[in-house]
Amino acid sequence: MTDANSTWRVAIVGSGPAAFYTAEALFKSGVDGVTVDLFDRLPVPFGLVRGGVAPDHQKIKGVVKVYDKIAANKGFRFFGNVCLGRDIQVEDLNAHYHQVVYAFGCESDSKLNVEGEDLAGVYAATDFVGWYNGHPDHRHHQFDLHNAKRVALVGNGNVAMDVARILLASPDELAKTDIAEHSLETLRKSTVEEVVLLGRRGPAQAAFSPKEIAEIAALPNADVVITKKDAAIDELSAAWLAKDGARSNQRNADFCTKQAELGEGEHPKKLRCRFLVSPTALHGQDGKLTSVSIDHMQLQADDSGTPRPRPTGESEQVPIDLLFKAIGYRGEPVPGVPFEDRKGIVPNEAGRVVEKLGGDVRVGHYAAGWCKRGPTGLIGTNSLDAKDTVAGMLADYEAQNLISPSKDDIAPLLAERAIDAVTWADWQRLDAWERKEGESRGKLRHKLTSIEELMTVIAELRNK
Ligand code: NAP
Repeated sequence: MTDANSTWRVAIVGSGPAAFYTAEALFKSGVDGVTVDLFDRLPVPFGLVRGGVAPDHQKIKGVVKVYDKIAANKGFRFFGNVCLGRDIQVEDLNAHYHQVVYAFGCESDSKLNVEGEDLAGVYAATDFVGWYNGHPDHRHHQFDLHNAKRVALVGNGNVAMDVARILLASPDELAKTDIAEHSLETLRKSTVEEVVLLGRRGPAQAAFSPKEIAEIAALPNADVVITKKDAAIDELSAAWLAKDGARSNQRNADFCTKQAELGEGEHPKKLRCRFLVSPTALHGQDGKLTSVSIDHMQLQADDSGTPRPRPTGESEQVPIDLLFKAIGYRGEPVPGVPFEDRKGIVPNEAGRVVEKLGGDVRVGHYAAGWCKRGPTGLIGTNSLDAKDTVAGMLADYEAQNLISPSKDDIAPLLAERAIDAVTWADWQRLDAWERKEGESRGKLRHKLTSIEELMTVIAELRNK
């Protein structure tokens, strides 16, 4: 319930981890009567927890229990199916709230910027992830998995691990999760046998978490194959590991060394980890990808001592059927919200939005999560990050350095514009419905994947 007399009304745009942790920090701020409205352009909450975390990682998805508790706070409201820039504008938020937090993440993908990137068979991992998770924006994608044997996967972060695992996992196991039906059908017909992971730096600098690569090695049908040459740790990396490397870097390096001892393995499917290679061109025939040219790299320390890849002058061409780019998410500009194009973020100083880097602070506007710091870190990273943003918000509240809204509750404006906003109670009914539908199909959840379907079922459940 929003208290029209509340002296601290906050709008948060987005409903993923950053948004919920921001709401939590606000409720824990000690200020009585703070109210928080979460807006999401989708009818469903949870951002990348619903649309990004892999369906076979249900333990990670279980974090929504924490968000449910935050939503149970009496000052909390959810406005799903309300898009900033389409249904409401920044001016509308300014008219109704004392503070506005942007927590809309990074919704697009980074580009490789090499020749042939537009060939058929070249995919963004972000699209694949959204597709197997039933995200409405990505349900239409087609992945030609039934005509492919060898797939290249560029980048070796945890998104690449998710993509590799889904490509190599048993569809029967995935069928028990909340994977989108359309994806399961395609994965059942997949002929992919080999995923070639292309990392531009060495094993010590691999971006995957030790747990994630170990999980692929533990798949019943697949081996992680690393040659001794690829697993080798060069002198620079050894010195860097000793001085600056994190524990996870050392664990990754050790994993690769051990894995190289195991050779090819006996399973039919393979994840081949290549290191110190970087794609320079993609080649095709009749518009369809057939191979990738890769430059061999060596590491050189940059000014800060961090090992960076530099071409050795050697290159090779690897025949492949498909290629997935898993080289990072990227933020997109939102109408009325400052945007820093180079980093793909909302420019800010410790969470306070600025008009441009080094520019004036936009009073009462803040950023949290990936759109604040870029697409890095695990879900929990957003909790600390949100606390940092809320510390600034609280200081500004205490100093009364706020937006001066001319109105209170935004709900009448949404009604006036005939926007069918989804409430938290709507979501709870849909959540129960998706779980029950899933149960009857032998899976954890049957996800609805189009906005129309979602809104139709939400409307039906309202009338029951
Ligand atoms: P990431 O961890 O930043 O990894 C990106 C990878 O792409 C790195 O290997 C990077 O290499 C490489 N790369 C970037 N530009 C490249 C280029 N032009 N050519 C070749 N390689 C390039 O990003 P992510 O995998 O998208 O993950 C985003 C965040 O979500 C991460 O913090 C990740 O841990 C988290 N996440 C966690 C989980 C989980 O816990 N299960 C699952 C998914 C995502 P360099 O290192 O050399 O830059």
